[in-house]
Amino acid sequence: MQGPVEKGLVVRVTGGEVWVDLAGRLVPCALRGRMRHGDGTRVVAGDRVTVTPPARAGEAGAIEAVGERASLLSRYVERVEGERPIVANVDELFVVATLTSPPLQHAFVDRLLASAEQGGVRSAVVLNKLDLCRAEEVEAFTSVYTAGGYPVLATSAHTGEGTEALARRLGGGVYAFVGASGVGKTSLLMRLDPRLDLKTRELGERTGRGRHTTTFSQLYRFSGGWLADTPGAQTFGFPGSDALDLVRCFPEFAEPGARCRFHPCTHSHEPGCGVKAAAESGAVPATRYQSYLQILGEIEERRRRRAR
Ligand code: GDP
Ligand code: ZN
Repeated sequence: MQGPVEKGLVVRVTGGEVWVDLAGRLVPCALRGRMRHGDGTRVVAGDRVTVTPPARAGEAGAIEAVGERASLLSRYVERVEGERPIVANVDELFVVATLTSPPLQHAFVDRLLASAEQGGVRSAVVLNKLDLCRAEEVEAFTSVYTAGGYPVLATSAHTGEGTEALARRLGGGVYAFVGASGVGKTSLLMRLDPRLDLKTRELGERTGRGRHTTTFSQLYRFSGGWLADTPGAQTFGFPGSDALDLVRCFPEFAEPGARCRFHPCTHSHEPGCGVKAAAESGAVPATRYQSYLQILGEIEERRRRRAR
């Protein structure tokens, strides 16, 4: 006889198994019937599921239903010429950047923010290594991102400055920290939760079945909630293929976009474009507009390739 179903959270997906947290117990589960997807990756970390727990220890439970997703962070992967999901239901994505060492890459930050927007993920920008920045540089950086409505938190993982404000944003939800290598993500995470066992994270990756699984995220217990481990990508392809989707992923374009002569407008070649004019006057940050044009170029290039 089967027991009652329980609600759980998917923390890891390997070859054919889905590991679900059921009130603190980590239970392997199998997907039932139609929900099984070729390689078993139809569900991703962060999915909320309904499970029939295993009758005996050592057996697998069964996933009966997958809850609707509030958001899905995904990216475009060049090698497979398609979008790949990373993690579902992230409550806040923290995009970490530095001004120097490594030098700021606006384009990378903007690409991550736009990809989060596309997946319906709320995000904030973290400017780390505050101890290496001058106050006026921090102000200039902050104004670029507050223009798009993003909270900006300036921190130093070394001195601890600003990390309390960051900690206050964390609750029992699912969080992810992304950004270029060397910006101090690991240092910040250790500040926020010294118990976060980064050794275990590495071990988990090695014991994972099937190489393809490493591109998917896993969740780790973190500061009362969960931390999504995101693939360490130097490049992060915008997971959309439509110029008008991309426009919506730059929130500060909405207001000047209402003044464009043509509707819809891709804010690139069209005469009388309100966004282009705003970027020229500085009302829209120039770096944000440049990032937009760069991603737009990539989307168009993909489309040309597909048409060939
Ligand atoms: P990750 O690649 O993003 O995980 O970055 P790490 O946490 O490994 O940090 C990269 C380097 O930057 C290390 O040498 C850290 O000690 C250093 N670092 C991290 N945070 C800060 C900071 O707030 N200030 C300074 N000056 N250095 C930092
Ligand atoms: Zn326009």
